[in-house]
Amino acid sequence: MALLVLKFGGTSVGSLERIEAVARRVAALQQAGHRLVVVVSAMSGETNRLLGLARGLDLDAPAAETDVLLATGEQVTIGLLAIALAKQGCAARSFTGEQVCIHTDGHHGKARILSIDELPLQQCLAAGQVAVVAGFQGRGPDGRITTLGRGGSDTTAVALSAALKADECQIFTDVDGVYTTDPRIEPKARRLPRITFEEMLELASLGAKVLQIRSVEFAGKYRVPLRVLSSFDEGEGTLITYGEPSMESPLVSGIAFSRQEASLTILGVPDRPSVAAQILGPISDANIDVDMIVQNTLGDGTADFTFTVNREEFRRARALLEQVADELGADCVQCNDSMAKVSIVGLGMWNHPGVASTMFTCLGREGINMQLISTSEIKISVAIDEKYLELAVRALHDAFGLAQGGDVAGMNNN
Ligand code: ADP
Ligand code: ASP
Ligand code: MG
Repeated sequence: MALLVLKFGGTSVGSLERIEAVARRVAALQQAGHRLVVVVSAMSGETNRLLGLARGLDLDAPAAETDVLLATGEQVTIGLLAIALAKQGCAARSFTGEQVCIHTDGHHGKARILSIDELPLQQCLAAGQVAVVAGFQGRGPDGRITTLGRGGSDTTAVALSAALKADECQIFTDVDGVYTTDPRIEPKARRLPRITFEEMLELASLGAKVLQIRSVEFAGKYRVPLRVLSSFDEGEGTLITYGEPSMESPLVSGIAFSRQEASLTILGVPDRPSVAAQILGPISDANIDVDMIVQNTLGDGTADFTFTVNREEFRRARALLEQVADELGADCVQCNDSMAKVSIVGLGMWNHPGVASTMFTCLGREGINMQLISTSEIKISVAIDEKYLELAVRALHDAFGLAQGGDVAGMNNN
C-alpha cells in the first residue's frame, strides 16, 4: 500500500463532470488501500479570468492583493472535489495552503516554498481520510497569502511528496506524458516513456509548461519519484529518472519554447567595465529575472546591450531601463515584446559540436532570423520573432529526427 501524492491540473478539474471523474479515480485508489494526498489546480481558465479582473482595475495591481484573488481559484476546486468525494462515500477533507502550513518567502506572484509542516496531513492520513490540498498557494513570512507562480500546483505536489516521503508523485494532466515537444504545436511529437531529470529540468526551464520548473528542481533536490500521466486515459506516462546519464543519450531529446519573451536594448552606453552591472543591477534588485544577454562593442567607445525578460515583467523592466539610460547618457532604449525562444535539449549534445550548425542551418533554410543565441552543455536556445515560432519548432523537430526517434540529417544520432 503506497503513499501517493496525485496532482490534477486545470483541465482535469475543468467541469463538475471532470471533478466527479477525478473523485472516482481517487476513491478507487483509496478503496485499494493507498494513502492519498490530492493536490488540485483552479478550474481551467479560472486563474486567467481572475488575473483579468485585477488588470481590469489596474495593470500594475499590488502583487499581494493579486495573490489573495488568485488563491480563490484553488479554494473552489478543493471544496468541489471534497464534496464529490463525500458523495462517493470516500472520507476526505480539504486544506488551503495555509491550513497545510506551506510557508513561503514573501515574493508575491512567484513565492518559493521554504518549509512545510506535514503534521496536519499526517493526522488526516492517519484518520483514513484523503487530504485534498489547494495547489499554488502558501503563506508568506508576514502571514499574507502568497502564490507560487503560474503552474505552481506542480510544485505544491512535489514539495508535499518530499515532505511526506511519498512513494510517488503523479502529475495528472491533459497529455499522457512528456513529449519530444508540445504535441499541440507538433502533432508528430512522440511521448517519452522516461526522461532524465537533467533534461526535464532544461525543458521546463525553457518553457515546456507540462511541469513547472520549480517542481522539477524540488524533485531533483529530494529525489522525488515523479511521473506525468493523463487524467483521461490509462497508461504509464513519463517517469523522470535520476542517476548517471547513459553514454547512449540521444543527441536531442526534446524541443521547448516560450512565447513569453521580450527583449530590451540600450543603445550607445559607455564601453567600460561595470557598465553591465549598472544596467542589470536595478533589474535584479526589482526581482526581475534576466535570461539571454548580448553586448556588442562598437569600437567608438560605446556599446549596445540587449537582454530578454519574461513578457509579464516587460513593463517594469522597460521603466527601470529608461531610468538607467538617462543616468548613463545612453542614446536610447529599444524594445520588442513579441519575441519567442526556441530551445533544443539533449544530454548527448555536449560532445557533438555539429548540433548548433544543424540547428542554425535548419532555421536559416526556413528564413527565420535568430536575434539572440545562448548555449550550455545540454541546450541551445535562440530568440526569434514570435510569428515564426510554430514553423521553427516543427522544422527543428524534423531536422533532429524526433518524430521517428531516428537519424538526424547528416549526423550520427548517438
Ligand atoms: P495542467 O493544467 O494539467 O497543469 P498545463 O497546461 O500546465 O496542464 O501543462 C500541460 C500542457 O503542457 C500540455 O497540454 C501541452 O500543451 C504542454 N506541453 C508543452 N511542452 C510539452 C511537452 N514537451 N510534453 C507534453 N506537454 C507539453
Ligand atoms: N492555477 C494556477 C495557474 O493557472 C496554478 C496551476 O494551475 O498550477 O497557473
Ligand atoms: Mg500546469
